[in-house]
Amino acid sequence: MKSQDELGVPVPANKPLVVRTIKKVTKEQREYVLEKTEYNMFSFPADLTFVDFLSDSGSGTMTDYQWAALFHGDESYARNKGYYVLLEAVRDTFERGDNPKRSIDLILSGETNVKKLIDELYITSYEGGFVNGGIHQLTRPNAFIVPQGRCAEHLLFSTIAPLLKENKNITYYIPNNGHFDTTEANIVANGIKAINLFSANLMEDFPYDEMDKRNPFKGNMDLEGLEDLIQDKSVESIPLIYVTITNNTAAGQPVSMKNIKSVHKIAKKYNLPFFFDACRFSENANFIKEFEEGYKNRSIQSIVQEMFSYVDGFTISFKKDGLANMGGGLFFRDKGLFHKKFSINGDIGIRLKERQILTFGNDSYGGMSGRDIMALAAGLYEVIKQPYLNERKNQVREFARKLAKNGIPVILPAGGHAVYLNMDKFFEGTDMKIEDFGGVGFTIELLKHFGIRAVELGPFAFEWDKKTPEQRKGILNLVRFAMPRNVYSASHIDYAVAAITELYHNKEKIPKVRISRGAELRLRHFQTGLQPIYKS
Ligand SMILES: *Cc1c(COP(=O)(O)O)cnc(C)c1O
Repeated sequence: MKSQDELGVPVPANKPLVVRTIKKVTKEQREYVLEKTEYNMFSFPADLTFVDFLSDSGSGTMTDYQWAALFHGDESYARNKGYYVLLEAVRDTFERGDNPKRSIDLILSGETNVKKLIDELYITSYEGGFVNGGIHQLTRPNAFIVPQGRCAEHLLFSTIAPLLKENKNITYYIPNNGHFDTTEANIVANGIKAINLFSANLMEDFPYDEMDKRNPFKGNMDLEGLEDLIQDKSVESIPLIYVTITNNTAAGQPVSMKNIKSVHKIAKKYNLPFFFDACRFSENANFIKEFEEGYKNRSIQSIVQEMFSYVDGFTISFKKDGLANMGGGLFFRDKGLFHKKFSINGDIGIRLKERQILTFGNDSYGGMSGRDIMALAAGLYEVIKQPYLNERKNQVREFARKLAKNGIPVILPAGGHAVYLNMDKFFEGTDMKIEDFGGVGFTIELLKHFGIRAVELGPFAFEWDKKTPEQRKGILNLVRFAMPRNVYSASHIDYAVAAITELYHNKEKIPKVRISRGAELRLRHFQTGLQPIYKS
């Protein structure tokens, strides 16, 4: 008799106890609403979709542990108790590996020993890591809570850009293994150039029946490209090196520990700060555990600890990884390279804190409600659990496998949080050209006919028509189906696979798309009007 782990299918990891009924909307109703909302996916009412794969951001289910924590939310203006719990949770997650302190349990268990609370939570002293504590967080702030990831990006780049230009008025470049759209926009809005250094094997074919056996870590940074860029543009023109884990823009592919170590080495060689865009750190750690030599028997916690031991800081959206509905942060190593480089005329942490207070509020809530802070802190302990991570990974992989079996050009192996279609391949054999935004036409038809929402992350989102031939090389032609945590089951996926396959077989009927309003807008995929051009 096989054991529970040998059946070839994973043991279920959870059960939903709250259910929301999906409304029975007709194709004609969706068609009407699409026209009234200018065919923009971001303007379409979510309540009228059957399955919403637009984003995994903040759209996941919270666990009972998180809901319980939420009730402990403290809405005090200054130093709410969740602030301390969150800082401890961040230390536990990114620095303590297999030895977390779990101070959150003092609050959740209703600890009344005041001395214990003071000594273990409210008046602690830390320095030298990502989260100074006690007096050190006051004199050298290095942990900044904000409502979401892009706020952290804004905080970081709007603070360092003027310092850079004051110091030397040259063109600056920030390399990344794949800038996310808001990251790129925040960098560009501050007059810095954003460079994508995708892994060379990203678009290589991969057999769908080998997804459980090996992984080529297509999210890696192109190391040669990085060296070339630094040599080419000069060390002083690179404020920092960024690596996104997992690489959302590059089809959600993971980054190997080996690649992280190599980037760390290069950063060290040139004395450049190295940052993570850490949005999906636990998913990335799970890929390392499954596929990278030497990590099979390591816990997710210890892998995360090692990953973060190589960086000087990170920006993060806590809405990802299925972690929480709201939250973001900026953290950097106390007295590390970033701190030294940018503290020339005054402490960079103090500057960041000033800007944080100016835009998001007191540093102990940073634009979040006390309830959200508690749910987020609890989420940091949920998101590293192996059964959850495996179930999520298998769900995404299964989605990709089913599409591949139907002959749909899906990027393989599947990434961590989403399935991506290769639209160049999808439209092979039709007269669709890159500037026709076929990926957008596909999402419009999928929503119209089948009530499924996905998003184009390609020439439309990354503004192909506004870019130079050189910049266009950094754009992939993809459509993304993101998976919210613990929301959908096999039935949603089967419905989506059937719908996507039906559209694939009718691809010559998919319209080209014209931008009818706001082509010049920044981050235009969130706001422009579109017009599908149907063949008569
Ligand atoms: C979502 C995301 C961001 C931005 O985070 P928000 O919370 O949406 O502002 C940044 N980087 C990556 C890789 C992301 O996936």
